[in-house]
Amino acid sequence: MSNGIERQRIGLLGGTFNPVHEGHLRAAEEVRLRFALSQVLFIPSYIPPHKQTEDMAPPEDRFAMVELALRSHPHMVASPLEIEARDKSYSVITLNKLQAIYADAWIFFILGVDAFLEIETWKSYREVLEKCRFIVISRPGFDLAGAREALPPEYAGKMGDCRGAGPVGEDLLSRFRIFLVSIRALDISSTDIRRRVRAGRSIHGLVPDPVEEYIRKKNLYQE
Ligand code: ATP
Ligand code: MG
Repeated sequence: MSNGIERQRIGLLGGTFNPVHEGHLRAAEEVRLRFALSQVLFIPSYIPPHKQTEDMAPPEDRFAMVELALRSHPHMVASPLEIEARDKSYSVITLNKLQAIYADAWIFFILGVDAFLEIETWKSYREVLEKCRFIVISRPGFDLAGAREALPPEYAGKMGDCRGAGPVGEDLLSRFRIFLVSIRALDISSTDIRRRVRAGRSIHGLVPDPVEEYIRKKNLYQE
């Protein structure tokens, strides 16, 4: 901006975080640096009790684990926004709330390409795309370029590849709505972690140590 004051940039990473793992942390950190975000909010989703499967930990535990994981990451914050709403979490509603809180900021919705491929099934996804910018990140086992096929053709011109080092400038931010970003993603998933715990196998190194300890103490993900 001409006055030299840049708009604050806020990233949000939604998910069930069942549990949060090193893959989430790596992804958030890489995106934070590339987009010069001042903060990344981790927003665990609320799952209504009737929709909870056996291996879905209670929202309070999923949130507590995110808090533990982020203790050593000063630019990342656990947000109770969706869990406190106590209702099925629609992105469009969460974004309305965040826009009210961060009225002058650029808001970036960060998600893995696996999640982005389902965007057409989201409630009011067109509205969601109007409200913020998207950062679609690579994930082992998924083709990042496949993201281009996830939306109707009229969105093609709004998607941009984000190559090269250095923070993304405002020129690029103004030109595109959806950024495809190849990161050095880790091949870790919560599904695999839950399976390992159930089978009595180690999850050391896949989640931060305090999260590993929390899972053990609370006996999460056992039969
Ligand atoms: P599950 O196996 O239960 O679906 P998950 O590992 O996919 O768990 P989620 O909570 O579903 O974790 O993911 C939240 C967001 O983080 C999604 O947008 C997802 O694509 C992204 N994500 C998860 N793991 C990784 C990873 N290893 N690398 C990059 N992005 C990831
Ligand atoms: Mg997932």
